[in-house]
Amino acid sequence: MQTVTLNNGVEMPILGFGVYQINDEDVCEETVYNALVEGYRLIDTAAVYENEEAVGRAIKRSGVPREEIFVTTKLWIQDAGYESAKKAFETSLKKLQLDYLDLYLIHMPFGDIHGSWRALEELYCEGKIRAIGVSNFLNDRLMDLIVHHKIVPAVNQVETHVFTQQIENAQFMKGHNVQVGSWGPLAEGKSNIFSNEILVSIAEKYHKSVAQVSLRWLIQRGIVAIPKSVHKERIIENFNIFNFELSEEDMKKIATLDTKESLILSLQDPENVEQLSNMKFHD
Ligand code: NAP
Repeated sequence: MQTVTLNNGVEMPILGFGVYQINDEDVCEETVYNALVEGYRLIDTAAVYENEEAVGRAIKRSGVPREEIFVTTKLWIQDAGYESAKKAFETSLKKLQLDYLDLYLIHMPFGDIHGSWRALEELYCEGKIRAIGVSNFLNDRLMDLIVHHKIVPAVNQVETHVFTQQIENAQFMKGHNVQVGSWGPLAEGKSNIFSNEILVSIAEKYHKSVAQVSLRWLIQRGIVAIPKSVHKERIIENFNIFNFELSEEDMKKIATLDTKESLILSLQDPENVEQLSNMKFHD
């Protein structure tokens, strides 16, 4: 498995499996199990997805040695703050049936993120997490954390796909040794991605699908991608992207699809900030 090296030397698979919106416990367990059997070694969940238990069961059932799997989960806004973050971490770990995490992310840049980061730094120093990072942080928020704490986030997972390419933000992150992670690598199927003319013509040329071209484009940019699917054939398809390479010309054609704005979730919209901050999944 191709990997990226994080700013603390930890190797992270460049392609993984995401489980957002796989709400049914049995379906989640089955799809994660299938993904592991098919060769995925990075699983991306979050406390707020409420499927960490199913992910944990699938990992156990797969029989894949723990050290071969890279598990990411995330701290929700409701649990922001030093004490709450520590408690939420233990809850996630227990649900996942693990004794350490590979990557723990602050899911959203809202609430007491500085308290949360101090907790994550301590957990990292105690060896309970191999790498700590953030998600959905714009450059100003990222810089705020970098300047005020000891540990630079290893990863920032942000909406990144052919329509929202994050070219300048990715450069900024690279300049500060923060690995870019893509969420929504297939644009969640929005904007007719799968019938986009440019992508279809490139896909035909390589005898690949639009999904495979979109994912390959991300990994060729050195960005970690975590596509989600509940269909076994798509789980296999999305993993089959290591036997071709997009030419520079095709990378440039895909660059023209960039709208330079969020398609799925804008974090600069105050209504979204309010809605997300009010989203609670436990008492
Ligand atoms: P995504 O992976 O971009 O797209 C998933 C959608 O594409 C599903 O509707 C899936 O349908 C479909 N699909 C998958 N493979 C396909 C293929 N080969 N051909 C055609 N359709 C295909 O969206 P996402 O789940 O939102 O993002 C991926 C992961 O990123 C999440 O699961 C989660 O782990 C993470 N994420 C993080 C954040 C954050 O705030 N940090 C936010 C969103 C997501 P089927 O399932 O029906 O196959």
